[in-house]
Amino acid sequence: MKTRRSFIQTVAAPILALPLLDNEIREKLLADIPYDGPVLKVALMGLGGYATIVANAMQSCTKAKITGLISGTPSKLTAWQSKYGVDPKNCYTYQDFDAIKNNKDIDIVYVITPNGLHKDQVIRVAKAGKHVICEKPMAINAAEGKQMVDACAKAGVKLFVGYRLHFEATTLEVIRLRKAGEFGSIRFFQGLSGFKIGDPTQWRLDKKLAGGGSMMDIGIYSINGARYMVGEEPVWVTAQETKTDPVKFKEGVDETITFQMGFPSGAIASCLSTYAMNHLDRFFLDGEKGFAEMLPSTGYGPIKGKTNNGEITQPHVTHQAKQMDELAEIIFSAKQPVVPVDGGEGLKDLRIIDAIFEAVRTGKKVMI
Ligand code: NAD
Repeated sequence: MKTRRSFIQTVAAPILALPLLDNEIREKLLADIPYDGPVLKVALMGLGGYATIVANAMQSCTKAKITGLISGTPSKLTAWQSKYGVDPKNCYTYQDFDAIKNNKDIDIVYVITPNGLHKDQVIRVAKAGKHVICEKPMAINAAEGKQMVDACAKAGVKLFVGYRLHFEATTLEVIRLRKAGEFGSIRFFQGLSGFKIGDPTQWRLDKKLAGGGSMMDIGIYSINGARYMVGEEPVWVTAQETKTDPVKFKEGVDETITFQMGFPSGAIASCLSTYAMNHLDRFFLDGEKGFAEMLPSTGYGPIKGKTNNGEITQPHVTHQAKQMDELAEIIFSAKQPVVPVDGGEGLKDLRIIDAIFEAVRTGKKVMI
């Protein structure tokens, strides 16, 4: 029987090498050939809401597989073991997971716990010699983020952030059009990111576990999006905060922040992060020649995009499945993503968040 590799080498290679072959057709041809390359063995840490979305999405991955679980709740471990076919010997608690060090069934740990726990957990995984994917925000401030980047570098393991939109087709198409000069020189970006948060007792409203409020959770999408849409790093920020419910949103937990970022070219971004308004998920990029609008821009999709030339039509693929397959390729084939997803990328966003909080506190423009 032909393996995928031998099929690609003997039959498909001459076709795939044709210079005029469209990228989309190339992808489709490859998708029809069964995958027989290496598979990334992933342990999920923190079996909550988002881990459930990741685990379900990963059922359609070809290059990544759930092989391990880490949780503080024994009943969840049992239920997830049988649901996702995970060997009980690859299941750990928060107390004993350092033992993954000797487990060849785990290549990488995906940390999907509350933000305030990320730093210590990522550093422990790195010390156990495994690669790490950490959910956004990577940490609760840049100082913690830097410790994580340093610890992973010292341990010789890779650190990724769960920036699923960096692999999303409509997002990548807007970036391609911007790079091709379709919008001319970029002058303006608007990012609106928010939803109305419920239960006042949840960890997202606890400063210690969340690191802040809406900014850490949802505003980060406008920060990260501004950077990949404009294609530059901001050099200054200004910011203003407003609170309509100081009982629910305690000291250090932001409800609504508007912020502005200035880029070296002179482009500016104007953004809103909120826990007080529903269905707020829009990016707008404008240049001298044209615009791109994404609405919605960061939800689980389908992401919808249009430009001054009309609608962007890209296929919707479950974000988390695409992300995990792409991460496997980054690890196994040193593939370079269009927009980085490494710890350095997570740290850049944290530095901007620190600056936004300082701008809110001082009322001053803060240089980055
Ligand atoms: P969640 O509350 O649904 O799940 C958190 C999990 O962590 C639970 O299983 C909980 O038991 C566990 N946990 C371990 N120690 C805990 C502690 N001390 N306190 C509270 N819970 C503890 O939260 P979630 O929505 O899954 O978010 C987890 C992480 O994923 C966050 O960093 C969040 O920002 C991120 N996230 C990312 C996306 C995305 O689209 N990339 C979406 C949602 C959440």
